[in-house]
Amino acid sequence: MHYNRNGFPVEVRTYRKEPTFWDKARFYVCAVLIATLIILAIFLTSCSKGDLAYGAEVWKLTAYCPCVKCCGKSDGITASGRKARYGYVAGNWLAFGTKVKIEGLGIFEVQDRGARSHFGSKNDHKKRLDIFFPTHQEALRFGVQYKEVEVLNV
Ligand SMILES: [Zn+2]
Repeated sequence: MHYNRNGFPVEVRTYRKEPTFWDKARFYVCAVLIATLIILAIFLTSCSKGDLAYGAEVWKLTAYCPCVKCCGKSDGITASGRKARYGYVAGNWLAFGTKVKIEGLGIFEVQDRGARSHFGSKNDHKKRLDIFFPTHQEALRFGVQYKEVEVLNV
């Protein structure tokens, strides 16, 4: 109950304002804007994942040369049929020609394959690459290292 200045009770009636056309329009515009932003955010996050196919992860890196000890053969031809050279790596589940960026070493290209037990297969994505070196001594010197590897294209 409300009272006026003289102390008499005064009935105060409040009216609920009916939403006008513009109130409704504003509500829908806001809703559509928020929905658009959410869709845009989802779209952008899925895109950035696509560009960085596998992101940078630590892989096991080993080395080999074209000798019989390393390959069981010594013709120096990769599984893709190319003349092996420094810059090529062996990996089993990445297509030939896939470029990988190895932390501190640069960009290498998958052109060879290795033992499934070590390098995995199409369905078994082992994080391991074999780096080609021209001589057995260089391969031995590299030994086994663990470095961040980024798959640049798949
Ligand atoms: Zn060797």
